Amino acid sequence: RNIVHASDRRAYEEAAKRLQLENAEREKIIPRLRVESRRKYLEKRKEDKVAELEADILDDEYLFEEEILTEREKKERLHKKELLKLAQEHEKARELERVQRYHMPRDLGKNSTSDYIEVDELEKAPQSEQKKWEKDQMASAVFKFGAKDASKGDEYELLLEDQIDFIQALQMPGSKDKLKKEPELTEVEMKKLTIEETKRSLPIFPFRDDLIQAVQEHQVLIIEGETGSGKTTQIPQYLHEAGFTADGKKIGCTQPRRVAAMSVAARVAQEMGVKLGNEVGYAIRFEDCTSERTIIKYMTDGTLHREFLSEPDLQSYNVMIIDEAHERTLHTDILFGLVKDIARFRPDLKLLISSATLDAQKFSEFFDDAPIFRIPGRRFPVDIYYTKAPEADYVDACVISILQIHVTQPLGDILVFLTGQEEIETCQELLQDRLRRLGSKVKELIVLPVYANLPSDMQAKIFDPTPPGARKVVLATNIAETSLTIDNIIYVIDPGFAKQNHFNSRTGMESLMVVPISKASANQRAGRAGRVAAGKCFRLYTAWSYKHELEDNTVPEIQRINLGNAVLMLKALGINDLVHFDFLDPPPHETLVLALEQLYALGALNHHGELTKLGRRMAEFPVDPMMAKALLASEKYKCSEEIVTITAMLSVNSAIFYRPKDKIIHADTARKNFNHLGGDHLSLLNVYNQWRDTDYSTQWCYENFIQSMKRARDVREQLVGLMQRVEIEIVSNINETVNIRKAITAGYFYHVARLSKGGNYKTAKHNQTVTIHPNSALFEELPRWILYHELVFTTKEFMRQVIEIESKWLLEVAPHYYKPKE
Ligand code: ADP
Ligand code: MG
Repeated sequence: RNIVHASDRRAYEEAAKRLQLENAEREKIIPRLRVESRRKYLEKRKEDKVAELEADILDDEYLFEEEILTEREKKERLHKKELLKLAQEHEKARELERVQRYHMPRDLGKNSTSDYIEVDELEKAPQSEQKKWEKDQMASAVFKFGAKDASKGDEYELLLEDQIDFIQALQMPGSKDKLKKEPELTEVEMKKLTIEETKRSLPIFPFRDDLIQAVQEHQVLIIEGETGSGKTTQIPQYLHEAGFTADGKKIGCTQPRRVAAMSVAARVAQEMGVKLGNEVGYAIRFEDCTSERTIIKYMTDGTLHREFLSEPDLQSYNVMIIDEAHERTLHTDILFGLVKDIARFRPDLKLLISSATLDAQKFSEFFDDAPIFRIPGRRFPVDIYYTKAPEADYVDACVISILQIHVTQPLGDILVFLTGQEEIETCQELLQDRLRRLGSKVKELIVLPVYANLPSDMQAKIFDPTPPGARKVVLATNIAETSLTIDNIIYVIDPGFAKQNHFNSRTGMESLMVVPISKASANQRAGRAGRVAAGKCFRLYTAWSYKHELEDNTVPEIQRINLGNAVLMLKALGINDLVHFDFLDPPPHETLVLALEQLYALGALNHHGELTKLGRRMAEFPVDPMMAKALLASEKYKCSEEIVTITAMLSVNSAIFYRPKDKIIHADTARKNFNHLGGDHLSLLNVYNQWRDTDYSTQWCYENFIQSMKRARDVREQLVGLMQRVEIEIVSNINETVNIRKAITAGYFYHVARLSKGGNYKTAKHNQTVTIHPNSALFEELPRWILYHELVFTTKEFMRQVIEIESKWLLEVAPHYYKPKE
């Protein structure tokens, strides 16, 4: 009866090992404590001394609190020890040779919702948690002992090679008034709803007239409502219907994310029965899908920020909605200050600030105590489960959890939060591989990815209704946290990480890293499971971790990223006194000063801090100031054609080289063929030019494991247009790579490092240790001086996209910044 074949098992183990190696890097970026306990966990696991290890973990956790234990904590500790004992017995009972790590509760437990248990309540009442846990464990222990009888219903035990055991720690209550009255919509019922019915079923619908009236009465309104209540899609339509566009002026709505702007615009066009780009359109960086007729315009916050340059009073808008305000992106934060200012001298402009969370009060205070319009939420309770011990590899853990849900839980779609495209692709491949091997033994599972670089027709697929009898699993970045609402999600899997930009204002270094999310994010994610029915959220971290390691809220972007771009834009808008700009939360002073210094060194500001002619031209480009400078410098070095291409390629960046897991070697060989010894920028140029020479052939991309080229071409076209606007002729100088590299250096002289002992590099200004990324063409070349495009922090600070330069160029291109050695 053992369905798992030995050969499959070996293949799986090999894959797992490979993945573990790849993930060793990722491992180390997790906060130290977590890594420590994880490492111990792994080592011990290998020796198969699971019980001991778990004791270790608990000891670790309590070391911190030993001296300051209160009565309650002592009780809690005792309780956890008991849990551990149970766990140990449980471990002994399991079949040793199977990597059956955890067990998932089998009943949906919907009936246990009679009394609400607040987030911390359960931890305060260890008895109830323990009882529940014991009950679960007993059930599974009994089940395991009896497994040899092959009683029916345990077939999945044999299907699944490994499982994860979750502990239900708490329940996120639903909205009390709705819980009993609201009948759960079954899948079939959901599908039968027409667009009109769907619109009427949204929580915002009963408040339509109140909302319109509130907008009529107040100039500024703060709107607060759960994700999925219909804020983004409905409010612009209501206002349009109420005549706010009658004079031909627009309703604008900003989104922090590109994907959201596109997808929501498409949805609203569909609801209104118009063609996307006509009455309803969207604008994102490098892409404008609007027309003269557009009256409802969705756009990214960055795009609106940019629109201020050409239309400082937003004259073409009657209403501006700053949506997803709680996301607190840099651009949204700056927009707050800009629109607040405009509202003062444009009393006819209506301003709506809409947010999914509890920040409404803060927004209201900022906007001179603007009234708050609350849309009562409609949420079903969500059971929250934690893993018993830290998961070493969360992508792997996701795959296991997905299969576990698929095999043991009633139908209902799954939403998984991963950190980026690469991870999503890995997860998708692992999952599809395992599904292939399971074949018809399990129901159909439709795997759909969604991330920013995914082509929009693929993105739209996540909204297609799931066919009867099948289950959908959406692998998403945190775009699905609040920006996009996918209906019918019942299960959420949350590994607890997201990708974030971090800026060190001391060293001026900015790097991209995977960091633990905040409690607020974790709860948003869990909330996605309770929109249409009671749901479950599986957190791939421990309850301890949640409580002690996650910050309460995510730090607003303005306080943690490089402000060069924002400062340049503000200066270009004529806002000179940045220190007194009306920020909701001001950026750290040093970050602001550093941005000013950088712009000065780039020549965008003069020594009075005023915008120069060069700075004004730089502000024309919707790219980082360093990139803008390189584009402008290409005029002097007569290689604008090449720099434009390189810029376009860098802007789609890591998405260019495709590495399917089953063809890694082929893909890597193909990639090496493009390598240019001058550096990675030139390799990217090679890729683009070869593709162009095949007349933009798709087949060529396929054969060379290259993707996202269409977007690169679109971006390139936009850039060519902008170059014309600043009157730079497009000229090619492909054989003079020194010129190309000098132009890049003119923008990126901040990002320069010099070879030091042991193959490491030290940054020129701050002597920070950095390393060339193994993917680079220069990885083994180790030139004396290099310039990097970006830093990515995984195990170390890796420089991604590097070129070789000569130190004397620095004196030539950045005399403000580099001085010759005395
Ligand atoms: P909110 O902004 O309050 O979070 P939305 O207006 O985004 O809510 O979503 C309201 C409803 O519209 C949801 O049920 C969501 O599933 C649906 N919806 C949004 N975008 C799309 C789309 N592109 N395709 C299908 N349905 C969509
Ligand atoms: Mg929304």
